[in-house]
Amino acid sequence: MNSAIRQNSAPMPDTAASIDRVRALYSRLYPCRLCPRDCRTDRSGSKPGYCKSGIKPVVASAALHHGEEPPISGTKGSGTIFFSNCNMSCVYCQNYPISQLGVGNEVSIAGLAEMMLTLQGKGAENINLVTPTHFAAQAVHAVYLARRKGLAIPIVWNSSGYESLETVKLLDGFVDIYLCDYRYAAPETAKKYSNAADYPFAVEDALEEMVRQVGIFDGGRGVIIRHLCLPGHLAETAEILRRIKEKFGPAIPVSFMSQYFPAYRTPDYPEINRGLTAEEWREAKKIFHEAGLQAGWIQQDIYESV
Ligand code: SF4
Repeated sequence: MNSAIRQNSAPMPDTAASIDRVRALYSRLYPCRLCPRDCRTDRSGSKPGYCKSGIKPVVASAALHHGEEPPISGTKGSGTIFFSNCNMSCVYCQNYPISQLGVGNEVSIAGLAEMMLTLQGKGAENINLVTPTHFAAQAVHAVYLARRKGLAIPIVWNSSGYESLETVKLLDGFVDIYLCDYRYAAPETAKKYSNAADYPFAVEDALEEMVRQVGIFDGGRGVIIRHLCLPGHLAETAEILRRIKEKFGPAIPVSFMSQYFPAYRTPDYPEINRGLTAEEWREAKKIFHEAGLQAGWIQQDIYESV
């Protein structure tokens, strides 16, 4: 797996085009339009945007992780860099101390590049940028620096999918694998649980661009879609799977996740203030199989191949 990825990996060379893309990403940061929130705030000043983030990246952890989808974790672990804060505000966020409360430490761009190189030195299969959207310019800048210093493993963009199309276009050449959520089909649900009514439109545009860049995941590069089943929302799950198949075909790998548990603000949302029942999960798997998707993983205690 690792060698296959390396063969397929296309590290962004030190070219004028790559420098231009880093610059173009920074131009979207001042004022900030990195994501669909389009806050247009000056993040270097005293008024952070919706994501509560300044200019310096904030990182909660950088470590080898073995719990991602099998081809991402591989045998040696995924070199996971977990960014703090988030441009979503999901009421059920299981990582809310990091995503909403900002637990983590500021790092410089050079420091972030060093983290990548250190993870590579520890044998990481890839560099897995988790929740990078609101630090897209800084993360890509660090990848650029790290590549120049010998980073040769693939880059994974592990995102909620609430992305600006213009920003995603600028990731072209820097990212090998997009591991992208598809959370909601209905604007009402996206508004209620993540204050992002435009999410369904944003994620579809972003996924189309991601697939255009790297194709669907083939074992080395490409797009993998993640879907987390929410309790009481299986009709929306069915609609999401239908759209995925219609738009990208049955071969796109979908990671079908059961790991939801109530957390953070779910006591204010009684209908999702519980886990999936066993019967619901059985029904969810039936929906998945009936959708006709032919690749991916179904999350049990471990991931099972479809
Ligand atoms: S990245 Fe943050 S500041 Fe920038 S547009 Fe998105 S939410 Fe607003």
